[in-house]
Amino acid sequence: MINGIEINCRRCPTNIWKYRRMVVMGSGPPNADIMFVGEAPREMEDRAGKPFVGPAGKILNRLMNEAGIDRNEVYITNIVKCRPTNSGVTNRAPNLDEVKTCSDYLLAEIEKVDPKVISPLGRTATNFFIPNSSISSVRGKEFEWRGRSIWKARTIIPQYHPAMALYNKNMFDVLIEDMKVIGEYNREQESINLIYKNHKDFYKEVGKEKCL
Ligand code: SF4
Repeated sequence: MINGIEINCRRCPTNIWKYRRMVVMGSGPPNADIMFVGEAPREMEDRAGKPFVGPAGKILNRLMNEAGIDRNEVYITNIVKCRPTNSGVTNRAPNLDEVKTCSDYLLAEIEKVDPKVISPLGRTATNFFIPNSSISSVRGKEFEWRGRSIWKARTIIPQYHPAMALYNKNMFDVLIEDMKVIGEYNREQESINLIYKNHKDFYKEVGKEKCL
C-alpha cells in the first residue's frame, strides 16, 4: 500500500490491471496547494510509475514554468491509476466503470492533500468534477466542488489537457493562458494567507487575539 493505494490493486471489473506494469501513484508534496488531475497514465507513465513523465508531461512542465508554478510544489495525479489498454500496445480512454472504481483513491488523495485549488486536465477529468460539462466553456473558470464532504467546498479550475499541444501547436498559447489562471489564483491565495497571518500576529502582539 502506497499513499493509501494498493500496489497490486485489481478492483476494476475490467481487465485494466492485466497489462499494467505499475499502478501509477500521485506525486508531489503531501500538503501541496495546487493539485492537477489528469485522466490516466500512458505507456511512459506505466513504465516509470509516475504521472505526466511523457511528452504531455514535458508540455505540462513548460506551461507551469511560463505561469510561475514550480512542479516540485504541486501534486499531480490521475483519476485512473492504471494504464488503460486492451492489448498492451495502444492506449485507450478509461471507461466509466474504471473511473467510478478508481476515483475512490482520488477522493482519498484529495482529502489527504487538501489542496487550495484542483485543476482537472482535459475532458474526462473535468467531467468527473463537473458532470456533462463542455471543457471549452468551463476552462479557466472557478467552480465549487464538495466531493464527499457536505461542509467543505473546494475550488476547481479546469483546463485543456496539455497533450492538445502535441497535436496542434496553435493550442500552446491557449494552454498557457489557462495555466496562468491557476498561477494567479495561487498567488492571490498566498497573499490572502499572508495578510491573515500578519493580522493574527498583530493582534497577538497587542493581546487582542479574541478580535480575530
Ligand atoms: S484502475 Fe484503479 S481501481 Fe482499477 S485496478 Fe487500477 S488501481 Fe485498481
